[in-house]
Order: sequence, then structure tokens, then C-alpha cells
Amino acid sequence: MAEYEVVIGLEVHVQIKTRSKMFCSCANVFGAEPNTMVCPVCMGYPGVMPTPNHEAIRKTIMAGLMCDCDIPSYSKFDRKSYFYPDMPKNYQISQYDLPLCLRGRIHISGKGFSGEELPDKYIGLTRIHLEEDVAKLNHLGRTSGVDFNRAGVPLMECVSEPDMRSADEAYAYLTALKQIMQYGGISDCDMEKGQMRCDVNISLRPFGQKEFGTKIELKNLNSFRAVHRAVNYEIARQSELLDAGEKLRQETRGWNDDRGETYLMRTKEQAHDYRYFPEPDLMPITLDLKRVDEYRRQLPELPEAMRRRFVADYGLTPYDAQVLTMEKALAEYYDCGAKLTKSPKTLANWIISDLLCELSASGQTISACPVTPEHLAAMIDMIDAGAINNRIAKTVFAEMASSGKPPRQIVAEKGLAQVSDEGAVIPLVEQAIAANAPQVQQYREGNEKVVQYFVGQVMKLSRGKANPQLVIKLLKERLDG
Ligand SMILES: [Zn+2]
Repeated sequence: MAEYEVVIGLEVHVQIKTRSKMFCSCANVFGAEPNTMVCPVCMGYPGVMPTPNHEAIRKTIMAGLMCDCDIPSYSKFDRKSYFYPDMPKNYQISQYDLPLCLRGRIHISGKGFSGEELPDKYIGLTRIHLEEDVAKLNHLGRTSGVDFNRAGVPLMECVSEPDMRSADEAYAYLTALKQIMQYGGISDCDMEKGQMRCDVNISLRPFGQKEFGTKIELKNLNSFRAVHRAVNYEIARQSELLDAGEKLRQETRGWNDDRGETYLMRTKEQAHDYRYFPEPDLMPITLDLKRVDEYRRQLPELPEAMRRRFVADYGLTPYDAQVLTMEKALAEYYDCGAKLTKSPKTLANWIISDLLCELSASGQTISACPVTPEHLAAMIDMIDAGAINNRIAKTVFAEMASSGKPPRQIVAEKGLAQVSDEGAVIPLVEQAIAANAPQVQQYREGNEKVVQYFVGQVMKLSRGKANPQLVIKLLKERLDG
């Protein structure tokens, strides 16, 4: 099989978190009874007038600023004409030639989805424009229902440059985009609720060739994992056709997740002509520099900046920082705890290995977790101070996760404090030595590893509470003596 360069561009739709819809006062909520959140405007009745949602415009500009976009001072809405049951007025209000945000970029780096290191690079954004979502078609056996609750929900479309070169890069770009939207409070990006939807453009070309190969558009990708799989499937499928000397057709393909393959939806000849023209019922959007600067001041700390700070201030590895900034709530949790403890690296280890396991086992979110960052930081300081050892800390952690009690209270109530008093540990050390004469013999014959065996025996006798360093010291004194 010949080697081809993969060229990928993504079009991502993101629903904007607002109280009301884009051009009417209906509530923007998910999961309501079908067709209960509707009015003459979002149902497209004749003669109604749209009123723009300024919060949606502000959030789109914020999203653009977070992605390093230029914000033009003049922007407008256009009508995109098409006929389909999901759009009652037979056109969608969108933006065509003058979108709100232009020319941005998103940084990707770190470990990719396949576990390999990604190239450290920027993926260009062509534009972000604002439009209204369309209704949702629910296919019910032989009939279909239309739910207009979603029609008119504010929707951003983020169009990337064809800068991605692998499934891993596409996955990383989507992850970075989602994180930015979540950190900025623009959207929750819950793909299961359709808050983030993604189309992929993919083509292959021989290495060194300047012109792009034939572009295939992939639709119906409802998870990042599906994007990753579909891209790899297409790379294999297109390579095979090109190797066989076939010419690819420009077409739109769907993704069947169960079968793990793409299928033909339509060819280029069936493509729409949307007959865009300026929306006559809406004023153009004019933005002065002062307003854009005001928005810029409202920007939150972004995941990438947070990762850099975690590495510099708390001594984390880039990988730890990548894991801890996956979600804003988790990053804030860690940041809060790290400011309270003298061992922020140990805190990171506990969160990554114990807390995240606990959350995935219990199905809880970090915000609802009974273990507060204050309690976890306090527990780590107790380990550092020698008040409990690492083994007991596991017990304390489990109890914190079930009861939500502070670690000090748990240690006091359950009598878990570490025993560092020589007078209490010496009898246990002597008991272990007396009961294991063959091992004593092995030690004296030069097998130093036997010490670990004795440590285990003494820890067992102390029900895990003896200070391990003290146990080793006392054991050596007696075994060597
Ligand atoms: Zn409405």
C-alpha cells in the first residue's frame, strides 16, 4: 500500500448556553416535552419578526477571542434557503460572508488518543459564525416526529482549516475546542444532548503534492471516538481505491458505529444551492474596539494556560497537567487543593489514581464528590507529617468518599493514627523476630530482602498503623545486633 498524506478539516456545531433561543424568548432547554418550547417566531409563522439574542452574540465573540480570532467591526446575518421538515420557514438564519469571528487557531500537544505523542502545533480556524439550530427529527418506526423545541437554539459553527494530518490530531483538536467552550462557559458540549456535533472533511494526496485530493465529507459522528474510528476507516478505504488507480468522487458519507464503516449518503451532484442573501429583518452587527476589549477582559484562564501554570507552580509532569485539566471542574478542584497543601504533586497523584477511579466507579461528578479538595489536601498533609502512613491513608480515603467526613475526624473515630512511639512498636518487632527463626537465619546469611518480610509481619501485628520507617530502623537494630 502506498503512503498518502491525510488532510482533515472539521466543521463543529456548538449549541450556546443561553436562557432563551436565538431570535425569540422561548426557553433554551434540553429534554422538555416535544413542541412545548415554541412560539410563532421559532415556528416560522408568516409576518413574525426575529429579535437577536445579545448573550449569544457576546458568547460567540468570547469563543472567538479564546481561539485567537479576529473580531471584525461589522458582521451580518443571512438567510440560507433550503426545504426540509426540520426548518419550518424554509430558510435558516445564519451568517455567510461576514461572520462574527475570523482566522483563529487552536493549540494541540501532549499525548494523543492512541497513546502516542502529538506534534506540538496550531490548527487554524477559518471562522466561527452564529446561526439558529433546526428542529430535531425523531424517527419512530414507519413515521417521523418533528420536535421544534430545538429550532432556534443559538448555534455556533466553528470551521477549521484543513490542518489536521491524522485521526489523533482530529481527536485532540475536538478535545481542545470542547475544553475552551466549557472553560469559557459558552457550552456544556454534551454530545449525547446534541450540544456539540461534528462533520469531518477528509482527503488523501501523495506526499509532496500541493493540490488537495478529492474531499469526502463524513456526517453522523456522535462522539470523538466515532470521529477517530471513521477517519481511520476512511484513510484505509481511500488508500485502497487510490492504490487501485481509481478516481474518487466527491461525496458525503455517513458513519455506522455498530458496523464500524462509512456508507454513501449523497454525491456532489445532489448538493444544495442555498441561495444565501442578507436577512432583511435583522440589523447588521457593529462592534467597536472598546466593546471587544471589554469582552477580552472577561475571558477566563484557558486550559492551556492552566496546564503551563500547573507544571511551573506545582511541579507536575505535562501528562499530569493534561489529565487534570480535561474538565474545568476537575482543574478547579485540583487548583483549590494544591494551594492548601505543601505537596501538590502528591495531591495530583491521589486525584489521578484514587479520586478519578472512585468517581468512575460511583458514577459521580467531581462537583458532587463527597471528598472535598480541602479534606484531600488535609489528608496529604497528615501523611507528610507522619500522622498516618500511606496504607492507612487508603482506608481514610475510602471513608472520606463514603461519609464525606474530614480526615482528622475519621482517624480519631477509627483509631487509625500512625504509631511512631518506639515503646509501642518494639514488642511487635520482637514478636515478629521470635516467631520467624528461619527468616532470621536467612538475613544473617546475607539475604537483606528478608527485611521486607519482617516489615510486613510487624505491619500486620500493628494492624497497619506502625510507622514503616520506624519499623525498619528497629528491625535492623535487632537483626544486626
Ligand atoms: Zn420561540
